[in-house]
Amino acid sequence: MHIILLGPPGVGKGTQAKLLSEKYHIPHISTGDILREEIRQQTPIGVKAKILMDAGNLVPDDVMIELIKNIVTSERCKNGIILDGFPRTVAQAEALKNLFADLKIVLNGVISIEVAEELTIERLVKRAQELNRTDDTPEVIKNRLRVYKQRTAPVKDYYQKTGILHSVDGEGTVEEVSKRMADALK
Ligand code: AMP
Repeated sequence: MHIILLGPPGVGKGTQAKLLSEKYHIPHISTGDILREEIRQQTPIGVKAKILMDAGNLVPDDVMIELIKNIVTSERCKNGIILDGFPRTVAQAEALKNLFADLKIVLNGVISIEVAEELTIERLVKRAQELNRTDDTPEVIKNRLRVYKQRTAPVKDYYQKTGILHSVDGEGTVEEVSKRMADALK
């Protein structure tokens, strides 16, 4: 099972990805988490990514595409993957399409979680207090949402055209949203 979760920062992708991961027994891959781990270990990718992430900007496509290639072809992802945070640009979506084609992987579904912008901001501010993330300050949140609209929203249109996009209402309880997602994937 290969699934992509789309949606703006703060929409609840991470929470839902974890639940799907438990349900289908396939790994939840958050590119944000992977980059934060690279930063923690002070790898060359981490050092470069930190400056961009702290400002709410995207890490370059070539870096992300290389990273995702290594993950998708890894042993632990051989039965599937739940992608959270990738693709974030149309170029990444194109690269993923080619990678899946080369590996004869079928993309089972793309779920776009939708919520009103005010609610995503509210959730991000709350998360900032809980997790102490350096990219959750009000100014950076604003930039991340701007970057989302400019660079990532077109990814939704990209998948809409291919007919595998399911839009799911992300408002309500975690359980309600999770049920809607399961229904969409049926
Ligand atoms: P997230 O945890 O998904 O909100 O990601 C945190 C940050 O990591 C983003 O604001 C970007 O700076 C960076 N990032 C994560 N995934 C990607 C990606 N696919 N392409 C570019 N940058 C990414």
